[in-house]
Amino acid sequence: MTPRTAPLRIAVAGAGMAAARFAHQALSLAPPGALEVTLYGQEAHAPYNRTLLTGVLAGHRDPAAPTLPTGDAVLRTGTEVVAFDPAARTLRTATGESAGYDVLVLATGAEPRLPGIRNLHAGPRPLTPATGPDPAPRGALGTRTRTATRPEAARPLKDGVHTLRTLADCARLAGDLPRARRAVVVGGGVLGVSAAQALAARGLPVHLVHQAPHLMERHLDAGAAATVRRGLEALGVRVHTGRVRALLGGDRVTGLETADGPLLETELAVLACGTRPRTRLARAAGLRVRTGVVVDDTLATSAPGVHAIGDCAEHRGTVHGRAEAAWDQADVLAARLSGARPDARYTGSAALLRLSAGPLQALALGDHTGPAGPDADTVRLADATRGSYKKLVLRGSALLGALLVGDLATAPDLVHAFERNEPVPPDPLHLLTTEGATP
Ligand SMILES: Cc1cc2nc3c(=O)[nH]c(=O)nc-3n(C[C@H](O)[C@H](O)[C@H](O)COP(=O)(O)OP(=O)(O)OC[C@H]3O[C@@H](n4cnc5c(N)ncnc54)[C@H](O)[C@@H]3O)c2cc1C
Repeated sequence: MTPRTAPLRIAVAGAGMAAARFAHQALSLAPPGALEVTLYGQEAHAPYNRTLLTGVLAGHRDPAAPTLPTGDAVLRTGTEVVAFDPAARTLRTATGESAGYDVLVLATGAEPRLPGIRNLHAGPRPLTPATGPDPAPRGALGTRTRTATRPEAARPLKDGVHTLRTLADCARLAGDLPRARRAVVVGGGVLGVSAAQALAARGLPVHLVHQAPHLMERHLDAGAAATVRRGLEALGVRVHTGRVRALLGGDRVTGLETADGPLLETELAVLACGTRPRTRLARAAGLRVRTGVVVDDTLATSAPGVHAIGDCAEHRGTVHGRAEAAWDQADVLAARLSGARPDARYTGSAALLRLSAGPLQALALGDHTGPAGPDADTVRLADATRGSYKKLVLRGSALLGALLVGDLATAPDLVHAFERNEPVPPDPLHLLTTEGATP
């Protein structure tokens, strides 16, 4: 390759966890002056560790603390990228600027998915006569009903109803706490469990409503989930299994109606019902998008000079939606674009999830669901009085998966053995008890 005389101009749309990691790694790997990295971030803040937001909400962390390093990248906060042209290699911002780039990295993350619950929004649903062919169903007496032309998602949520993705969301939610005597969290995944713990830590009685049979069903088995549930209940969170049908109240929420359970009164509702990759920019530019922006093992999209990493990217049919996967992708792209390892490839991320919600700690690693075949062994240790649950799935001396709830003392050893595919000691109890664990 002929050496470049001018720096490679890399524009990054998004200034979140993947973008920060990419900028930091790329700038530290590249020869001085070889790269010029500009991060365009819609949020008003410098990149921060989003996974610590519930700690901020709980009051355990300073809102300014989780800032992430970005090397000497140019940081344009409060600057949304609204369009780009892959052929001309230019982008446009909401402030009306145009900028050229050599390489564009999409790191636009994800946004909260709103659940299909009635009466989520403030005020009456605005009705305007539909234009063009009337798609509205026939009402009573065969008359056409009128159609709301404004999309639901564009309407503000009722007062007291929150999502939690950004520091601004966190500040709004914290600002609403004095108006609430109790809170309901809708959704019992990682975010819902963490948010419920944070609200309980702020002294509120909390109800958590989850529609799957047990909490964090994507990551935990029933035994581990029951241990997390007991941990939550000890903190003052009541867990309900069922579906929320509607919110109650006018401009402000006053309660929730569940499909087959009680009416829950509340002044505060937190919606933690999953996320959806932010793909609007990529779609508008004609890139291939399925659930996320489709990338190959080089993290290239379908458009020349455009890459995607993090929660907005879909690789081999998977949108990971996890910080560690976003960082793995950022590291591979940084290695390629800095020239440090131009052949680096991303082939996927280890299934590894950590829950760190105040006193509630859990680790889910690899395939712990079983059955992992006739030659696989499962070892379980549960101690309800100590609130701990541990499970290993092994094939011979190979660790296939693990679950730890409560006592995570052996987690570093397990992650080490799993990630390096190292054989585990013949007595697996060694990996479940603190004796012999890495301090
Ligand atoms: C409260 C909370 C707890 C979490 N806990 C965990 C956890 O325990 N473990 C785990 O693995 N993951 C966790 N996650 C998920 C983790 O935070 C994400 O996987 C990670 O942030 C993904 O990084 P990203 O850079 O792809 O997206 P983000 O960090 O969301 O960054 C995307 C950024 O791009 C900006 N943006 C979007 N579009 C544009 C545009 N057009 N122009 C400019 N800027 C734009 C957004 O405003 C945002 O700032 C948690 C998430 C939340 C919200």
